[in-house]
This record gives sequence, structure tokens and C-alpha cells, in this order.
Amino acid sequence: MDAHSTIYNDLTKILVTREEIAQAVRQLGMQITRDFAGKDLVMVCILKGACVFFTDLIREVDLPLNTEFMSVSSYGSGTSSTGVVRIVKDLDRNIENKDVLIVEDIVDSGRTLSYLVSVLRQRHPRSISIATLLDKPARRVVDLTVQYSCFDIPDAFVVGYGLDYDEKYRNLPDIGVLSPKIYESNP
Ligand code: 5GP
Repeated sequence: MDAHSTIYNDLTKILVTREEIAQAVRQLGMQITRDFAGKDLVMVCILKGACVFFTDLIREVDLPLNTEFMSVSSYGSGTSSTGVVRIVKDLDRNIENKDVLIVEDIVDSGRTLSYLVSVLRQRHPRSISIATLLDKPARRVVDLTVQYSCFDIPDAFVVGYGLDYDEKYRNLPDIGVLSPKIYESNP
């Protein structure tokens, strides 16, 4: 905690520790290894929030796989969804007949992933699944099937382990609830 004591001061509490994350990522990696054996797996990292989760997760999957990166605009610097989703960086390669696993940091309203799945489906992959580190089921506004989820969390704005507020806090090794005073003073 010492090395990050200044950013930890901006949290009201730690919700998921680095040890809990590491254990969940290991288990998810084993599950993906079982479920995708013999398939043509492409793991798609949704930038930037999923980057830390993604780089840990792919190393827990004991299968040949391809990695792809995609960036979509969602929240800007605020803390609630606008519903506007735009592809900022697209995949580099064709996913036709591939088994696509979208790796996301957090599912909130579900709008971002619902849009992404519909876009990627038009490219005729063999299958599309979703793996998310965090899920806020209480906030869902669209019907979305999430095949893999590490942690259900309450309706609070969280940062750390890749998740940001205004591009900060991604480097926190744990996941914590951001103190409202941080975003209330910077609307
Ligand atoms: P959705 O489209 O499901 O409402 O929002 C998904 C995106 O919103 C996530 O990829 C993430 O960028 C952002 N988001 C949702 N909740 C949180 C949160 O608690 N903390 C952070 N940092 N981002 C969030």
C-alpha cells in the first residue's frame, strides 16, 4: 500500500484485493482452457480498461490463441453511461469462422458490449462469448448474456486494475471504490 499511498487516499474502500483478483483470473483461465480446447480462439481486449485483466488472463490460458485489441468510446471523463458507443480502434484481422472471446473490464448498463457483439456478429465468427472481470447486474438496461464473470459488484464507481477515472488510477493493483469527492469536485 505504501508505494500507492497517495492514490489509495482517493478510495473509500478496497472492494477486490489483488490476491482475490489473481485467484479469479487463474480460475477463469483454466475454464477458458477447457471450454475453448480445439477451437480457433481469438481473445479481444477492449481498451483501455481491460488491458491489465487481459494481459494477466491470456497467460493463464494454456491454448494456442490470437490476441486482438479494440477501442470504443464510452464514458469520457464522467461516471455514468451516455449510451453513445463509437469504435475508435477496430480489430486488425478478420474473425470469420473464429471463436471470439471479448475481454472487458466491467459490464454496467451492458450497452457497450451489446453494441460490440452486434457489430462483431456481422463479421461471421463461429462464436462470440464475453469474459468480464466485474459485473454490476443491478445496472443492466439491455438484455446481454455474459458467459464468464469474475466478480459481481454493487452499484458504485470503481477504479484500479485497469479501470480509470479521468485516465487515472489504472495502475492500482487492487480494485477500490472511488471517493465521490473526487468526481464531485471535477464534474
Ligand atoms: P456500459 O456500456 O455497460 O454501461 O459501460 C461499460 C463501460 O463503462 C466499461 O467498459 C467502463 O469503461 C465503464 N464503467 C462502467 N462502470 C464503471 C466503473 O464503476 N468504473 C469505471 N472506471 N468505469 C466504469
